[in-house]
Amino acid sequence: MELVALGGFGFAFANSPAPTGTDWVRFAILAAGATVHIQLTRRQEERRRNRTRTVLIDLIAVWVFPAVLVLPATLVVALVVLTRIQRWFTARRPAHNFVFSAISHSLAAALAHLTYVALGPSDWHTLTGLGSLREFALVLVTAAVYEGVQVLYVGGILTLTSPNPTPRTVLGSKADNLLEAITTGLGAMTAVLLVTMPPTVAIMAVVTVVFNRLAELDQLQDDVVTDSKTGLLNMRGWSESAERALSRVSRADGTLSMLMIDLDHFKWINDTFGHPAGDDVLIAVAKALGEVTRPADIVGRFGGEEFLVLLPDADTAAAEVAAERVRRTISALRIETTDKRGERTEITDRTTSIGVAVYPVDASTLDGLMQAADAAVYEAKENGRNQVRFARNDRH
Ligand code: GH3
Ligand code: MG
Ligand code: MG
Repeated sequence: MELVALGGFGFAFANSPAPTGTDWVRFAILAAGATVHIQLTRRQEERRRNRTRTVLIDLIAVWVFPAVLVLPATLVVALVVLTRIQRWFTARRPAHNFVFSAISHSLAAALAHLTYVALGPSDWHTLTGLGSLREFALVLVTAAVYEGVQVLYVGGILTLTSPNPTPRTVLGSKADNLLEAITTGLGAMTAVLLVTMPPTVAIMAVVTVVFNRLAELDQLQDDVVTDSKTGLLNMRGWSESAERALSRVSRADGTLSMLMIDLDHFKWINDTFGHPAGDDVLIAVAKALGEVTRPADIVGRFGGEEFLVLLPDADTAAAEVAAERVRRTISALRIETTDKRGERTEITDRTTSIGVAVYPVDASTLDGLMQAADAAVYEAKENGRNQVRFARNDRH
């Protein structure tokens, strides 16, 4: 893909006019704006990147998209490379990641640029009312190409390489995509300012720095409901989602099930291999839970080494199948980790005790279900661990 892209750049450069004096001045303004943006948001972008679990949306489109519209292809790609190099020093990533993101971003920018040129834009200084409407449509089409290529290229490769691609991990969340769309929109405004009143581009530099902060706030909101160790929902996030699912199910006179999953003799792992190894086991179990459950299931970390899974619409039979699948999957995990002396080791054959409570049979509230499932876990432990127990007893 990278070779194809490089070939494409060669084609684009060969067909692009040599930069004029004005082009160089505009390039310098955009490069300066991008540099201010990148340098003033360094620390924050590092934090943001370390938290991101899905596709990363980069606010740099505010500077690259105007280049797409007003500069020749060579300078468009030069600007992308310039921003990438600066980013590399901020958010050091493995070199192949850096090359991949530089190429995918350059490719999107170059293709969008070629599209725009092919559509035959007019000189912005001579625009009339109706002409500006047509021009706006061209800008929208160009933005769609710019976004579309990135989504297809990055999303396509994520789909090919991740074991369990979901729309969210491949395409990013709704909030991420909204952010990217707004960023590109701001980029279009930067282009207008750059052509009509270049000094006002300084305002955009301020806007992007502040905007970066807002993007961080959005992520902080996500963090409030996320368990940082495993990336699963924390209790707060889990309860919120679970309450919503429960009220939907109860309105529809439906059913749902809850699994409380407690790892057996987890303390032994900490004692034998150390706490970092224990953490690796928790992370592996969380990942496995994500993979064996359905997208509509709500998976959370209850605390310590206990996990909760809510299965909307699952009755007793469905819950039993799901719980057994969870138990089997976890017991088959082979977890690569390090022991107390820092040497590589593999932890296998970890068992779990799972308690299952079913709505509305066992309880009608979330708390009631949790209590019932917890009691069932206790019974599973008493009964020899490594098993699934239902909360229901003979009374029912
Ligand atoms: P049982 O089979 O009865 O469930 O035994 P257990 O050892 O799993 O249960 P116990 O409740 O005695 O111990 C749970 C341990 O989990 C104790 C605690 O130190 C450990 N733990 C809790 N949270 C974490 C964590 O985030 N990381 C690590 N490494 N250990 C944790
Ligand atoms: Mg426990
Ligand atoms: Mg335990």
